Amino acid sequence: MPEKINLSFDEMWEKVLACDRAYDGVFFTAVKTTKIYCRPSCRSRKPKKINVAFYQDIQEVENAGYRACKRCRPDTTHSPDLGVVNSVITFLINHYKQPFILQDIADHVGISSFYLERLFKRETAETPRSYLEKIRVDKASHYLRNSLKTNLEICYETGFQSPSNFYRVFRRLKNCTPSEYRHLLNEDRP
Ligand SMILES: [Zn+2]
Repeated sequence: MPEKINLSFDEMWEKVLACDRAYDGVFFTAVKTTKIYCRPSCRSRKPKKINVAFYQDIQEVENAGYRACKRCRPDTTHSPDLGVVNSVITFLINHYKQPFILQDIADHVGISSFYLERLFKRETAETPRSYLEKIRVDKASHYLRNSLKTNLEICYETGFQSPSNFYRVFRRLKNCTPSEYRHLLNEDRP
């Protein structure tokens, strides 16, 4: 059984709408009406939100009577390396508020930090640190969209050590500042 992931339903739904590959393997989207399950990144037409259930464990979703989507193939063989990578991603999602220490993650999954970094890079083309930054920015975006927290509050609640670091990383991943991001969203709303 994988470590339980600390993401709300709405956050998972946001990843699905964004077809975000970064969360593939970490959870599955099951559609109650079609009885099919997908990866978050699946490009098939999006189901209605009310028809969706999320599962973390592939065995559990199959036991519940769902069949794997033919398009995104969420059931394709998991290499043991991918299993480790998914554990690392889940760990990062669940501990995003803490300072990044590679050794802690390595201890958690039971391999050396050197090997972890190499393996992670090979499977995701990113380092655990850059992945964590993406997870933190995703959290921050969620707060900017759905809360009245200030930029400074969001900065510290999402694990950034300083506002300058928060602004730099946010801009690199979203091509705008947190304030611009919030402003753009509000303009979109009726
Ligand atoms: Zn699919």
